[in-house]
Amino acid sequence: MYTSDLCHFLDGDHPAANGPVQRMGRFLGQCVMAASQRPVQMRSPTVVPCRRRPGHRPCPGPVMVTRRRDGIIEWACGSCLEQGIIHHWENTYWDCRNLQGNEEDTDEILNLRLAGKSYAVLLDARVSLFREDEAFVLRAAARGDEVVLVGSGDEFEELLVTVAGEINHAPNRYWRRKLERIYDEIKAGLTEAGRG
Ligand SMILES: [Zn+2]
Repeated sequence: MYTSDLCHFLDGDHPAANGPVQRMGRFLGQCVMAASQRPVQMRSPTVVPCRRRPGHRPCPGPVMVTRRRDGIIEWACGSCLEQGIIHHWENTYWDCRNLQGNEEDTDEILNLRLAGKSYAVLLDARVSLFREDEAFVLRAAARGDEVVLVGSGDEFEELLVTVAGEINHAPNRYWRRKLERIYDEIKAGLTEAGRG
């Protein structure tokens, strides 16, 4: 059981950028971004990758989060049972409470189901997303092999622009293909929903 004070993973206002602190901080930050966009007292499966590698293979998760009424965030992996609590996350870089519910009323809310395998590239440390895009990606819920992402058409379109930028800067063909796959899936979902 880990007890983490999120302030220890900050360098000024931003996530600390080196070593094991950065790795653990990245994981905890992702848990906070996911939990702070979810209703209070609702235990929910996230797309946050579990840090553990039992038998040298990535733990399949999912990492569950609960934002308790007292403000503490609980996280627990559904597979390896690693778990912990996070406090002092409020008003840090990873606090996304204020990103919820400020979509334009006129913009329709879409509900896209994407393959978890394709989606994982968006959570890789080598992909650099803007804070708002990262928050949107982490709003998604894991449902078996799939990921369910709910957002406004504008949010999906902004994410596509970001992914397109990453495709242009991909270091090699393998990486480009991974990014293109999720780009195409989101694009197809939007087209099916009558957008784009
Ligand atoms: Zn695990």
